[in-house]
Amino acid sequence: MASWKDYVRRVEPYTPGEQPKEDNIIKLNTNENPYGPSPLVRKVQENIDDLRLYPDPTAGALVEQLSAYHQVSKNQVFVGVGSDDVLAMAFLTFFNSDRKLLFPDITYSFYPVWAELFRIPYEQPKLDADFRICKEDYYRENGGIVFPNPNAPTGIYETLSFVEDILEHNPGVVVVVDEAYIDFGGESALPLLPKYDNLLIVRTFSKSRSMAGLRIGYAIGNPELIKAMSDVKYSYNSYTMNRPSLLYGVESLKDEAYFQATVQKIIRTRTWFGKELRTLGFTFPDSKANFLFATHERVSAKEIFEAARKNGIYVRYFAQPRIDNYLRITIGTDEEMQKLIDFLKEFLS
Ligand SMILES: *Cc1c(COP(=O)(O)O)cnc(C)c1O
Repeated sequence: MASWKDYVRRVEPYTPGEQPKEDNIIKLNTNENPYGPSPLVRKVQENIDDLRLYPDPTAGALVEQLSAYHQVSKNQVFVGVGSDDVLAMAFLTFFNSDRKLLFPDITYSFYPVWAELFRIPYEQPKLDADFRICKEDYYRENGGIVFPNPNAPTGIYETLSFVEDILEHNPGVVVVVDEAYIDFGGESALPLLPKYDNLLIVRTFSKSRSMAGLRIGYAIGNPELIKAMSDVKYSYNSYTMNRPSLLYGVESLKDEAYFQATVQKIIRTRTWFGKELRTLGFTFPDSKANFLFATHERVSAKEIFEAARKNGIYVRYFAQPRIDNYLRITIGTDEEMQKLIDFLKEFLS
């Protein structure tokens, strides 16, 4: 007799970073931003009575604010529940070919999970020995391409001409550039949009806007791409964006000064903290993200990870081939990073 168990869609889920419950810990493991959302977001007066109403399924107010912010038209913007939702919708919409989807072997570990979930064939070209993407690996027949820029968890940023080379070689498929960390020093691929109708840029409010808890992500691309994604979204769940998220998201975009100031603070801390790390015997690739991907000359990443954790300092460790001697350390406040340095000094001596 057949069992329902034979027909379950089995998937190996993505493992998010630990969200510890204790107080007084230093949390540098999921690339959250220590500064919190803009004061304008704090001022939003939520009308609880409005929560009886469904939200706007088109997320109109947020789409409009985003289109003004990025100087694109409204039909070039798609909004979703964090960029995870946006990326999943993009996978479902565009990677619907018998040919293989391409993304690096070391990258955001959600990509293979969606590929498995949606039964998308895929291949993962290897980063080179310096953890750089080899663009030539993407100059062959494929069913689509996705990569983060800067890449995660390496933090390595590739220039616009690098991104353009990949686009030029792939006019027949959708190329998704995941710009989760672009605000921390890289140059966005947005200027390439008028030239490439197959480019989809995905962004998030979780990192540079310090709103991971609200779950706001978006994509920008040509109107045909956005329409295709919206059709899929409306065939799945119309009301993805809740009312508070829409209000808070709009306010965040109005406060450019706060946004720039907090991003610059993180960049300054990254530079200072990097120097300190080097003096302790760590090396890491140049990062344009809000984290460093570091390895120590003598002590294993796993040992450091476990010892730091016992001391209430959480960083990210991946028990994964090629990167299991690296730690991904989120850039927090100067005080938090100083505490980590103090701990490392003592632990490594
Ligand atoms: C954090 C992250 C995301 C997902 O962010 P959301 O919180 O879902 O918006 C997507 N891609 C990369 C590379 C990330 O690091």
